Amino acid sequence: MRVKILGSAAGGGFPQWNCACRNCRALRAGTFQGKARTQTQVAVSSDDKNWFLLGASPDLRGQIEAEPELHPREGIRQSPIAGAVLCNADVDHTLGLLLLRELQTLRVHATESIRRILTEDNSMFGMLQRVPNQAIWNPFAPGTTFSLLDSKGEDSGLRCRSLSLGTHYPAYVSQQRRSGLVSREASLGLIIESPSGGRLACMPAVPQIEDTLLREFESADVLLFDGTFWSDDELIRIQGSGQTAREMGHVPVSLSLKKLAQLRSPRKIYLHINNTNPMLNEAGPEYRQVREAGWEIAEDGWQFDL
Ligand SMILES: [Zn+2]
Repeated sequence: MRVKILGSAAGGGFPQWNCACRNCRALRAGTFQGKARTQTQVAVSSDDKNWFLLGASPDLRGQIEAEPELHPREGIRQSPIAGAVLCNADVDHTLGLLLLRELQTLRVHATESIRRILTEDNSMFGMLQRVPNQAIWNPFAPGTTFSLLDSKGEDSGLRCRSLSLGTHYPAYVSQQRRSGLVSREASLGLIIESPSGGRLACMPAVPQIEDTLLREFESADVLLFDGTFWSDDELIRIQGSGQTAREMGHVPVSLSLKKLAQLRSPRKIYLHINNTNPMLNEAGPEYRQVREAGWEIAEDGWQFDL
């Protein structure tokens, strides 16, 4: 299985259009020791022909153009992108589906609750249902294992298991709709296994670290873990108001570094990094602390084989 990190920032990207935090300002001024990043997007493939997107980022168009393996190969209308697997219904995780609306057949693996939010409440997603079999939704239940099927329904050889991690739906979901949804279908982590047994754990939004999660991580070869915020009150301190990291469903890095310190086996990579996170600054103490603890900080364009 080949894994590509097409984007590694949290919602808003780095820099973020309306942000003048220390990081964003320094990056724009050219004085920042660190890299710009687009909004998180991971893609996996077992054969380098059919690619599956884990989520669908608002930056997807540019991310596809930046990656030759994702370009059309034969014919006039074609794409190696076979489908997507959704972890949640967040705007920065699903908006990219609307960028794939040019009548290309896609298979979308999602929980039934996430499918209902997108297709029944958000009429714009009707652009993915203009012709029969344009977007084919494959529902999955948390905790179950399923095969990633390509747009024709053929088994890619990749197996996916989802873990229910959070129960919060995005703010745009109406109260009325919420009452009819299954809370454990709100936010998931994915374990993707290659035909040869290589395991990727993709966990961009983790509200808390349970012991059962530690065991899952220990059996993975690569762990892509929630690196959104460094500290719980990061946004409140910078903006003067707002929610804590925990309230937004993200365990802060300063805590996950401690909680995951005993992990032995996986390669550990922080992903989904918010522009305010001080560990983006490669000259700073937070960056050094993360690297010395054996973690890497994902950058756009990384890829590896499992
Ligand atoms: Zn910023």
